[in-house]
Amino acid sequence: MVAARASDAASGAIQQVDVAVVGAGFAGLYLLHRLRKAGFSTVALEEAGDVGGTWYWNRYPGARCDIQTIDYSYTFDPELETAWTWSEKYATQPEILRYLGFVADRYDLRRDIRFKTKVTEAKWDEAAERWRLGTDNGAPVSCRYYIMATGCLSAPKPPEIDGVKDFQGAVYFTGRWPHEGVNLAGKRIAVIGTGSSGIQSIPLIAEQAAHLTVFQRTPNFALPAHNGPAPDDRMSLLQGDRAAYREQARQSMAGVPYPQQTAVSWQLSDAERRACFEEAWGKGDLVYILTQLWADQAVDFDGNALICDLIREKITTIVKDPETAAALMPHDHPFGAKRPCLDTNYYATYNRPNVKLVNLRQEPIKAITAGGIVTDKRSFDVDVIVFATGFDAMTGAIRAVHPITGRGGKSLSDVWAQGPQTYLGLTVAGFPNFFMITGPGSPSVLSNMAVSIEQHVDWIVDRLTALRDAGFSTIEATETAQAGWGQHMADCSMLTLHRLANTWYTGANVPGKVHALMPYTGGVGPYRSICDEVVGRGMLGFRLT
Ligand code: FAD
Repeated sequence: MVAARASDAASGAIQQVDVAVVGAGFAGLYLLHRLRKAGFSTVALEEAGDVGGTWYWNRYPGARCDIQTIDYSYTFDPELETAWTWSEKYATQPEILRYLGFVADRYDLRRDIRFKTKVTEAKWDEAAERWRLGTDNGAPVSCRYYIMATGCLSAPKPPEIDGVKDFQGAVYFTGRWPHEGVNLAGKRIAVIGTGSSGIQSIPLIAEQAAHLTVFQRTPNFALPAHNGPAPDDRMSLLQGDRAAYREQARQSMAGVPYPQQTAVSWQLSDAERRACFEEAWGKGDLVYILTQLWADQAVDFDGNALICDLIREKITTIVKDPETAAALMPHDHPFGAKRPCLDTNYYATYNRPNVKLVNLRQEPIKAITAGGIVTDKRSFDVDVIVFATGFDAMTGAIRAVHPITGRGGKSLSDVWAQGPQTYLGLTVAGFPNFFMITGPGSPSVLSNMAVSIEQHVDWIVDRLTALRDAGFSTIEATETAQAGWGQHMADCSMLTLHRLANTWYTGANVPGKVHALMPYTGGVGPYRSICDEVVGRGMLGFRLT
């Protein structure tokens, strides 16, 4: 194995390693740890100034996870699990960032991370059977294996509105919030976007603002988080048998240990359905409400519509102004076909006298001017604009490394011109020794990502170890296997309601992006079995040399 030479990076000479990892979030950190333990020399290249990924960048008010933190944690080391205690059911961004810093310290990971270093391009050298990565800071890297742990939600979507540069006030992006914080007290503020970041930040911004105007294009379903201590029932399940709890999560559909429901909606009376729904609404648990109401909720339009009606009824009871309540009600997608949001007082915030909702379906934004925002009907003078406009999800950060050139000089952007094609969401035909963590074609954003990340990292590092031990130097998916996976993805999506929604899962939020359902909808447990079966059948669908 090639030895890592840390001094190479500083001297500008090419840095030689076995494995280069891009990103130092949840995925990059665990990769570094596993690769080192397996005896590979490695370096992680990270654009940010420290570890944390998502939790380094997203420092907006109210930023927190929406999968319970006892589930949204590493599980690879039982001692790590007991060394850290979460303070809340849904931890805040600062606490999750502290946790990832704690993990980096515990396993001494920072010494192999080059911070403030963006990978700008990558090229496969056929003769040497190595990747060469270009960076914007310091030495390029030559590696046998190139792993992108660049995140599904790490490339913020730029604003699509004319005139942002003309605006004389302050502009902030939730995905790039200033580290020193922002004083919003007494300001006239506009928030553009009502996805998860908007829904989490709006109630807190409203408390500080003199006036808050929320510009909404598409309403989302939001459910109360009921944050507080981790619930007793979940904690006792975890503490009763930690290993079994974690294993159940790995085999589950969404990466959180809940059973598959078997009763379908039409077997339940109205009263029984309402009782199920009220229980779920009271729990404040995203995965519970997404999976535990009735068996057909995610696969049958009518079974799903019952839930949409019940949530819309909740909005009517919370929001006092009927016109605002109506505008906040989603009608364009089934519940769960787009990631619902967890909120703390989101709908109630619209009852505040200093908060107004502008429905962009009725009055689109025409321009941003020096003083504020102009719609088809009105203009709004503001001091601050907050863009909570989301991400170029799943492929944005991968495609931002440009070009990624594989075998025969093929560029990944050309191969993906009609949408991402992958084998298992892990690899791409024509790009040997190249891997993606939670790439398009894997369960990724439809799961508890901590579980999906660990599964990908373990699978990849185990394969690299086996290849090394067997004397192979390259691994590459076949075109046939990739086409088969594409077909399987399409078949699975026909069974769910995701195909009925235009969302960031399909790229619909980014102008010009090819529409294709990017995450695998077949579930975390079934997906894991497929990855294991690929190995059990002699690396089915891969060519090894
Ligand atoms: P990231 O954390 O995104 O890290 C990727 C890193 O790669 C970044 O630091 C980035 O700077 C770096 N990078 C990218 N491109 C380059 C390049 N070219 N060169 C160098 N560095 C590069 N998931 C859940 O399962 N549960 C939740 O509750 C949850 N809450 C979320 C809340 C928010 C506000 C957001 C934005 C996401 C949330 N997610 C959640 C998804 C979250 O992204 C994942 O859970 C997880 O943090 C992803 O880890 P990662 O290491 O794969 O990617």
